Amino acid sequence: MADSAGSGDWTEPGLFTVAPGVHRIPLPLPHDGLRAVNVYAIESGDDLVLVDAGWALAETGGLLDAALDQIGRNSAEVTRCLVTHVHRDHYTMAVILRRRFGTHVALGIGDRPSLTALGESGLEDMSEHVLRMERAGAEPVIRALREAFGDTPPQRENVWEQPDEWLKDQATIALGGRELRAVATPGHTQGHTVFADLAHHLLFAGDHVLPRITPSVGFEAVMAELPLGDYLRSLRLMLDLPDLRLLPAHGPVMDTTHARVHALLAHHEDRLNACLERIAAGAHTAYEAALALPWTRRGRRFSELDPFNQMFAVLETGVHLDLLVAQGRLARAATGELVTYAVPGPAAG
Ligand SMILES: [Zn+2]
Repeated sequence: MADSAGSGDWTEPGLFTVAPGVHRIPLPLPHDGLRAVNVYAIESGDDLVLVDAGWALAETGGLLDAALDQIGRNSAEVTRCLVTHVHRDHYTMAVILRRRFGTHVALGIGDRPSLTALGESGLEDMSEHVLRMERAGAEPVIRALREAFGDTPPQRENVWEQPDEWLKDQATIALGGRELRAVATPGHTQGHTVFADLAHHLLFAGDHVLPRITPSVGFEAVMAELPLGDYLRSLRLMLDLPDLRLLPAHGPVMDTTHARVHALLAHHEDRLNACLERIAAGAHTAYEAALALPWTRRGRRFSELDPFNQMFAVLETGVHLDLLVAQGRLARAATGELVTYAVPGPAAG
């Protein structure tokens, strides 16, 4: 039942106690990319609280109950869900628990525009992402996605209901005998929020700081102006907190948050420089730059990625290029829908 970094497969189902009264419960995802999502159950006085709730699949409720049964509890006893962000693998099961048991659901207020847009369209709306790929000149990726998934995503039940409570930055959440501080960490999504338990030295980090992968930035129905700028600022915020134990939504628990924050900051600095080099070498669009960049920790070629990950790669390149523009290191121009980038010439004002 002990749970420490690097030991075994973190996706193995069950309940793993990571601190007194705090349990990690890996739940399944339908795609293999991230493999599983960690839900954290906190026992505190009469409260049983979940940080993130999982993806509402047919089997999720049964697996959650089987895990909670190991501590003599069940999902009907969950009093509240604190959700780090609006992505489906974190939020949707909270809505299902509320429908079944009246569970109180809280979400960061910055995710309100995206949640509202999702609720109105009723499904996983890809139109914003398709538009962004058109601007990036990534027609081949759009075609590949249409071939793989069809024109419209599969219609699912609309679970995009509003939460009971919109969390603001620095809100104090009193659970019986325990206090969490909500810290707004926009970037991964506009409303992403982490929960710090300073007395117990724990950080419920959601997807803000992940131990093994680089979180995507700005993949949301309504995107921020400069999501990478927000994300880097939110990473530095973590260095203002003590170096808390990292409880991520994907991956194993780690003893340090700060080491991973430094690594992520360095990664994005490298990627910014690499993007700048690709434009200087003749790439004009986010798509052309993405084609020339190495991807994943293994340095794979763009053509080796599946269409969905090609889309992430193009969008990721776009947010880096846009930050370079904001930093004055690149110039941007628009021709119709297409956005192009260039290294500013000496005469450019
Ligand atoms: Zn996630």
